[in-house]
Amino acid sequence: KASVLLEGDQMIANGNVDVGKVQPSHQLDKLREERKTLPIYSFRERLLQDVEKNQVLIIVGETGSGKTTQIPQYLHEAGYTKGGKKIGCTQPRRIAAMSVAARVSQEMGVKLGHAVGYSIRFEDCTSEKTVLKYMTDGMLLREFLVEPDLASYSVVMVDEAHERTLSTDVLLGLLKDIARYRPDLKLIISSATLDAEKFSDFFDSAKILRIPGRRYPVDIHYMEAPQADYLDAAIVAALQVHVTQPPGDILVFLTGQEEIETAEEILKHRTRGLGTKISELIICPIYANLPTELQAKIFEPTPEGARKVVLATNIAETSLTIDGIKYVIDPGFSKMKSYNPRSGMESLQVTPISKASSMQRAGRAGRTGHGKCFRLYTSYNYDSDLDDTTVPEVQRTNLANVVLTLKSLGIHDLVNFEFMDPPPCEALLKALELLFALGALNKVGELTKVGRRMAEFPVDPMLSKMIVASDKYKCSDEVISIAAMLSTGSSIFYRPKDKQVHADTARLRFHSGNVGDHIALLKVYNAWKEANYSTQWCYENYIQVRSMKRARDIRDQLERLLERVEIKLSSSNDLEAIKKAVTSGFFPHCARLQKNGSYRTIKHPHTAHIHPSSGIMALEHHVLPRCVLYHELVLTTKEYMRQVTEIKPEWLVEIAPHYYQLNGVVEEDYSTSKKMPRGKGRTSTSKQIPSLVDYSICV
Ligand code: ADP
Ligand code: MG
Repeated sequence: KASVLLEGDQMIANGNVDVGKVQPSHQLDKLREERKTLPIYSFRERLLQDVEKNQVLIIVGETGSGKTTQIPQYLHEAGYTKGGKKIGCTQPRRIAAMSVAARVSQEMGVKLGHAVGYSIRFEDCTSEKTVLKYMTDGMLLREFLVEPDLASYSVVMVDEAHERTLSTDVLLGLLKDIARYRPDLKLIISSATLDAEKFSDFFDSAKILRIPGRRYPVDIHYMEAPQADYLDAAIVAALQVHVTQPPGDILVFLTGQEEIETAEEILKHRTRGLGTKISELIICPIYANLPTELQAKIFEPTPEGARKVVLATNIAETSLTIDGIKYVIDPGFSKMKSYNPRSGMESLQVTPISKASSMQRAGRAGRTGHGKCFRLYTSYNYDSDLDDTTVPEVQRTNLANVVLTLKSLGIHDLVNFEFMDPPPCEALLKALELLFALGALNKVGELTKVGRRMAEFPVDPMLSKMIVASDKYKCSDEVISIAAMLSTGSSIFYRPKDKQVHADTARLRFHSGNVGDHIALLKVYNAWKEANYSTQWCYENYIQVRSMKRARDIRDQLERLLERVEIKLSSSNDLEAIKKAVTSGFFPHCARLQKNGSYRTIKHPHTAHIHPSSGIMALEHHVLPRCVLYHELVLTTKEYMRQVTEIKPEWLVEIAPHYYQLNGVVEEDYSTSKKMPRGKGRTSTSKQIPSLVDYSICV
């Protein structure tokens, strides 16, 4: 037996050494003792009895009480995995799924990916031996596509249900449905907040088990006046706590990776000037895209005499428990998706959190002792500006992806699908309209062959359509590279503050010929491949190594999926063909230049600008293209289009005649220049999008 302690990535890297146990026995004993100190431990027998007697059980317990790490282990110990059946546990966030699986594999003394594994989009760390499977809610949703009754599972635990992500809500509906004809399947819905009745009602008055947490008092401090810059206020507050308060770690809630990186930099800079009298401040960032090897750092105990400050996104609100936190700094914001069903516009915005969230955040300070929470807003703001609870995602998001999944599961009657909180009807219609426009659904709302192919790809419908369309343009090789580069979730280009000029020059090379951001991404990928995927090459070209490695993993998966839907890998260097394939998926995201230099989206008029990070803006003496396609909209100081490529307006009429009529795109655009193309008439009405009335039949 190996006697070294291997963690996370290392364990996988050492996968060739086939040992069941990887923990030395004294470590295992220590972990076993720790498990017994968790609040949930004294409820073990009751919990097992309740699960045995009830098909559905709702569990409520304070964050850190041991729900996620312990319940699946208890069930495993009680025999629920006999005969190779699995226990599945879903998490809204992929980093939580990974981190919890790693912890549980340590507690059980097994290698991650064997008996305990995790599955997140584009990354499957499970094997045939896996019986405890942690996964994102979105991944379980996709499992329904291959195993509609989840026959291989004996228990499904929907964890962090209070987060009410879109996938969780859809899962709840599907699970409720299959539970009717799978009486042997046990469902556990676990939540950190007290809205258990709502879950219980949804599952026909299911039993609720409450696990009282240990909780120490937390003093709440408000600001006397509103803060103009919450990031700066948060940094100042963290430093003040560090300099004036007794030992105990600090948790700061910020909204995203960029903000966290900025805060990290400023904190490092300012603590340098504090001299040796002040104890060391260890800065630990945590956000969704943080590399695995750095994730473990937040769980390491703080050395004597030092203090840890964790800079986290919402992820630390309930998904991850970090021991030792005594001070919480809460600026009161998080990044939230918002969606306007009328215009179909989706954007990510920094939004005030809800009262429920701010309570959760404060609670993180009182887990191991008396704590303090500093809210960087006034008590008046709290009372009058914050909503009581966060609106469930299903009511503020684009539903196209979910509708496509449900349609591929054979669920046509979307209006009567059991949602805990139904989505707005308008949003459902919008999703159907988009899927129809993309060719995924036919006029009566049935899945088409294109739609079936699209559903195989774990990406949004516009991206999957672009991939499927690449077959026609004989450039699937290039298009999956672009799709992968667009799906990394983090930036590709590296632009350190002290080397911006160099970085920008390096970047411009990929934009030569003013090819647009999509082709530039392709060029980066191909150049990296040509350099044998070299890390050195990335450094030299100011490219983020990690994003590239992720892109390669995603690309590999997309390539395998191409095979599954019988699309041949074909390569082309015809840039126009590649852009047309992209347009086939993204034609709903097109905008036209206005006289004042801004853009107006074509279909649902809306003002937007090209994001300053776009290669189009980087060229000296750049000329703004008349018609562009964009990947996404982001709202910061203005509404910006990100990843932008120039297209010809005629393509829209050629590729999506049912969506764009000639007079809508081309005539207006050329009205002053006499370049009006001739010979193309209006498209026939039969190809137009069915009216809302048509759709009321099929929804
Ligand atoms: P809950 O799901 O009820 O919030 P968890 O089961 O996630 O609680 O956590 C229980 C305990 O396990 C935490 O208090 C923490 O000490 C420990 N723990 C959880 N995940 C990790 C991890 N990745 N590394 C180290 N300790 C962890
Ligand atoms: Mg948990």
